[in-house]
Order: sequence, then structure tokens, then C-alpha cells
Amino acid sequence: MTVVTESWVLDVSETQRYTGTLMTQYEPTIGMEVHAELKTCSKMFCRCTNGLGLEAEPNVHICHVCTGQPGALPVPNEEAIRAVQKAGLALNCALRFHSKFDRKNYFYPDLPKGYQISQFDEPFCERGTMEIDGKPFHITRIHLEEDTGKLTHPTGADHTLVDYNRAGLPLMELVTEPDFSTAKDARAFCQKLQQILRYLEVSDADMEKGQMRCEVNISLHEVGADRLSGTKVEVKNINSFKAVERAIEFEIKRQTEALEHGEHIIQETRGWDENRGVTVSQRKKESAHDYRYFPEPDIPPFDFTAEYIKQLKGSLPELPDAKRVRFMNEFSLAEADAMIITEDKDVAGYFETVASELGAKRDSGETKAELSRLAKLAANYFITEVRKHLAETRKTIGEFVITPENFAEFIVIVADGTINSSAAQTVLAEMYKGEDNDPSHIIERLNLAQVSDAGELEGIVDTILTANAQSVADFKAGKQNALQYLVGQVMKETKGKANPKITIEIIKKKISL
Ligand SMILES: [Zn+2]
Repeated sequence: MTVVTESWVLDVSETQRYTGTLMTQYEPTIGMEVHAELKTCSKMFCRCTNGLGLEAEPNVHICHVCTGQPGALPVPNEEAIRAVQKAGLALNCALRFHSKFDRKNYFYPDLPKGYQISQFDEPFCERGTMEIDGKPFHITRIHLEEDTGKLTHPTGADHTLVDYNRAGLPLMELVTEPDFSTAKDARAFCQKLQQILRYLEVSDADMEKGQMRCEVNISLHEVGADRLSGTKVEVKNINSFKAVERAIEFEIKRQTEALEHGEHIIQETRGWDENRGVTVSQRKKESAHDYRYFPEPDIPPFDFTAEYIKQLKGSLPELPDAKRVRFMNEFSLAEADAMIITEDKDVAGYFETVASELGAKRDSGETKAELSRLAKLAANYFITEVRKHLAETRKTIGEFVITPENFAEFIVIVADGTINSSAAQTVLAEMYKGEDNDPSHIIERLNLAQVSDAGELEGIVDTILTANAQSVADFKAGKQNALQYLVGQVMKETKGKANPKITIEIIKKKISL
């Protein structure tokens, strides 16, 4: 087969060369750098509040250290170091036993010291991997540094404002290998990274709020050539997952067209313009930056023991992949459902409490199959109804008014056929109101319970059959429509509360007598 394919390829290219229509094909090589602000109590090297997410006046969470006053001494934040190491362990990195901080020297108004404390050659974490759909993507390193201040350029003004509240916040930087070849995988990587950081509770990693920032570098190479042979273009200012995908797709298209027109790709930094959906040249690369890194003289290097790393690893929570697989095994959820339920750690926690309540509500004699049936029903209602409700009311699962106990109770009631599916919607809508979340109370108050009592239904069916002799005759003659009609009459009589399954059984039994 291989031989045939190869000769076919040769033939085509020979023909194309001959006719002059040969079009060089290009493939992208994509790498990423992701910054995430860590959710610690205080800043990286001082005692100022980490005011992330707090609405604050400019320049209130500042001190002599984070504004770079002469003689101020930095003291590293242990919580931040542990956070970055946890992220490293969760991403299968090797943790360095010996590590240090370095000074990265450059001048910019948002950097009051004239240098940034970062890590150069001994980052806390190295050589990790993240799996997406079974494919491994390699992580070169994860290091810790301090964030810079924030500049604002008021429209029409001749000056720039600087806010140092953000200066000195702990910032984790993750660098990937250039392993990506599609925008979709790059986006999936960022999304999964956010999910893992949130599971670890080390960062909220909200891209819209700037708590997680992605930079991508993209080069194109000819098919069959060295993957790294193209000229690298960096894209910054990417503020959403969607923008990660769009910016990469735009760059691939732009570079392909340039190459096809015989142009050279310029090594440069470009910015993503969200409104126009294009990347714009920001800075041509004159030469490689020389930051003149040297070890930070005010912070002694670190030595970590194997025991410390082992303990840290033991303290990691269950991560999304493991949780998804467990939910599939324990509750027989379909992979797609388990994926949705475990997307958010708090949602997964809510669901798990519901599932354990379901177990508690059933006698110990219940089989695993029955519990799976209930858990699946709970997942269904959660995915189709509750998620919609949360999205519509812009609430998080933490703000959801229905307790797991009451939600489990509701599921059992539906599973038992106490109420029909339209009544279930009414009950849920009442539960959302939050005044009385107990579904049994609601069913009683609104008189929604299905009539499943055979004795009660038989009396009603008798009346209906007597009053509809023609339909009975039609059904006996084999007309299925007649049965539908009779069931409809029973429903009308019971205001929709007759249990349809039991009603049909009774009608059939009575007619065949
Ligand atoms: Zn400070």
C-alpha cells in the first residue's frame, strides 16, 4: 500500500511541476506562553493585599517593596511557591530540588524597580505534559515571577496613568514546546489549563479579567520540511479562548498568503485586534533581548527535599480527568455528560452530593443498576434544565437555591413516576423560586401527584369506557387511535394527572375482558 501511495504522490507532483501549477503546502508550528495571576493572600514579595478581583482605587495596595523604593527587601511568598509547584505537579512536571529567583533587567514605567524578579535557568517546574484527546502536549517550564503595574492612556489626554496595585502580584508563567499544529488544540490547551488551575484553587484564571493571558507564537514551514524552519511571529493581547483560536487562524492565513506571494515572513510581535479580527504589527524584532539576568541577591536560593515534594503531591485534589473517569465508572455516566459535569469543580461537587443523597434515599437493597439509573436521570436534569437556569439567571452553582438533598428528592420523585414530566417542569420552576425547595411540599401544595392508584383509576376508566362505546368497538377492531383517544379522555377527567402507563394497562385489560 505504502509503495502505491508514494508513487501516486510522485506522479502528481511531477505533473504539477510540468504544468507549473505546483502550490507549496504549508503547515503551522505553534507554541504558547501563558501567564496566570495566583490567588494568594498577599503579593509575591511584600505584605500588600493581593487585591485580585477587588474593586480598588488605584495605588492603594502598595508599599515600599512593590513600588521599588531604595533599600526595600523582598521576602518570597511561600503560598505562591507552593501554588506554582502544585500546578507543576498537576501538569506532570519535574520539580527542581534546587531553585532560585533572578533579576530580569529592563526599563518600563509599569516596572518601578527597573527589573522584574523572575526565574531564569532554574524554574520551579520543568518538562511537563498535558493530554488533550489522548495526544500529549509538552510543557517546557513553569516559573514564578512578579506582575507589573498597569498603565492607562486616557483618551485625548497627553499623559499616561500608572496603577501599582497589580505590581508585585505573584504571576506564574508556563511555556509550552512548539507542539501544536491547530488553533483548536491550542485553545483546548488553554481551556484545560484554566480548568486545572481552578481545580487546584491556585488561580481563577479568568481571561476576560486579565488573570490569565496567552501569547502564541506561530511559524509556517513547507510540508515535509523541519517543523522549526519557519520564521516565528508572536501574537499578544489575546483576551479570550475564542480569541486564541481566531488569532492563530488569522495568522496561519496571513502567513500562508504572504508566502504564496513570494514574500518573507518578518520576525515580529503582533497584537490581536479583537474588533477587527486581525493581528497588527507592534514591534519588529531587532535582536534578541538582553535582559542581563543575574541571581537575585536579596533572596537566597531554595532547596526542596524529596519528602516535601511527595507531600505536596499527596495534597493535590482529584483532577478533572480522573474525576471524569470516576464519574463514568461510579455513576455510569456517558463520557460527554461526565465531561460537562466535571468541567467545574463546584458543579462536580454538587453532583456528587446529589448522587450520594440518591444512594441514601434508596434502601441498601437497591442494586447498582438502580442507582445508575437515578444518577443518569440527575445528570440529565442537571445538564438540560439546571445549567440553563444558572446561565439565564447568571448564577454560579454556589448561588444555586436548590440544595443537593432537595434536588435528589426531586429526582427520586420523577424516577418513581409520582409526577409526570410536565409536572416535573412545574415543580422545578417552583423550586427555583427558593421559598420552599422541598419538592414533596410543592407537589402537595399544587396537587400535582400523578394518579397511579389502580383502584382509583379503574373507576375512572369504567366511566370513560361506558361513555365511549364506539371507541371501545374501534379499538377491538384494531384501531390504535381509539386507544389514544380513550387515554386522552382519562387524562381530561384527571386533569392530566393519570399515570399514562397504568391507564393504558387498565384500559387494555378491561376491553379484552
Ligand atoms: Zn507591597
